[in-house]
Amino acid sequence: MLSTTEAWQAVLAHAPLLGNVRLPLPAALGRILRADAVTDADSPPFDASAMDGYALRRSSIAAPLRVIGEAQAGKPFALPVGPGECVRIFTGAPVPPDVDCVVKQEEVTREGDYIRVRRTDGPDFIRRRGENRRVGDIIVPAGTRLGPPELAALASIGLTQPEVVRAPRCAHLVTGNELVAPEHSPIGAQIRDSNSTLIAALLRGHEAELVAQAGVRDDLGSARAMAAALPIHDILLVSGGASVGDHDIARPLLESLGYTLHFSAVNLRPGKPLIFASRGNQLAFALPGNPVSHWVVFQLFIGPLLRHLQTGRATAPEPITGRLAAGCRLPSPDSRQTYWPCRATLRHGTYELSPLLLASSGDSGGLVGANALLPVPPPPASLAAGQSVEFILCP
Ligand code: AMP
Ligand code: MG
Repeated sequence: MLSTTEAWQAVLAHAPLLGNVRLPLPAALGRILRADAVTDADSPPFDASAMDGYALRRSSIAAPLRVIGEAQAGKPFALPVGPGECVRIFTGAPVPPDVDCVVKQEEVTREGDYIRVRRTDGPDFIRRRGENRRVGDIIVPAGTRLGPPELAALASIGLTQPEVVRAPRCAHLVTGNELVAPEHSPIGAQIRDSNSTLIAALLRGHEAELVAQAGVRDDLGSARAMAAALPIHDILLVSGGASVGDHDIARPLLESLGYTLHFSAVNLRPGKPLIFASRGNQLAFALPGNPVSHWVVFQLFIGPLLRHLQTGRATAPEPITGRLAAGCRLPSPDSRQTYWPCRATLRHGTYELSPLLLASSGDSGGLVGANALLPVPPPPASLAAGQSVEFILCP
């Protein structure tokens, strides 16, 4: 059986390269920029006033100066400014060519058309052309995730349709004769399907596109028909039926669809019966149906894969250091590699981890609050409340 590290390497080895798409700026939030974005003009594009005040020649600052006009943002003063003259100016206005200094209005006494400068040794208060950036400078490098500041930077250079990595397209089939939609009341041996909601929400949090989601019965023929009718997708997720029971259809389903299986079990608790397969550039996972296993497997494999597809960076989950909460109940040790869902809370700059009290891996409600995974060492090693631990923060 593969270790989680070996399983992740197998996933990485089959990860395809996604193409690009041009998106309008608001829609590009959170996406990865494909090519360097380059400044189209000097910034600022002209010498501009940094203050509300008066533009003048420093050499004539000591004498009273006549105000001969006004420069506003978007409305320059076009005439020459001689010695003994000045121009009323506002922040962002182009500085007239003959002047070399702006004096803040707070440092000036105005009498009619004349001003007297009270403080003569201040700075220029001129933002020089190109002092932020020169034309041709890279303003947002390729590979950057576009957050609000980056989108604003692209707007500032007129790049309104940036080329970004297209979202991975995922299709989700949910197997199980026992499942009913959440809005229905289960009867007899039925239970509500919570994994569809879990997967849809997790995909949304990872900038992935859910192109189709459907429930199928534990019947190979109808599942095959449903799978064949799915829209184009990069990743097929099959929930449930990933084990080797008589009614577990995920494996024969993937094989009958022409997928090659790369592994069908991982030394992992919870989440051992995890299947990974590929068909050309398409990847498929069959996830054990238990909701807790679902969440763990997504955090360890599918989430990191979605990030990798978009960034091209092989980012296995990065452990960070925290501390187990004092008096917390610890998960029981197990010979499998255990990753236990936890609540991580920042206290005085340090993450404090509380393992969730899960009745079983079928305990959907027990996952409430989960935002971290704690690797639990196999015996004879053990954990103690209050000790320092490495864990994975789950975005
Ligand atoms: P399976 O992996 O199909 O054997 O399912 C394992 C357990 O998870 C069973 O108790 C199922 O009833 C439960 N389960 C499977 N699919 C779902 C689902 N979509 N939502 C909630 N529980 C599920
Ligand atoms: Mg099942």
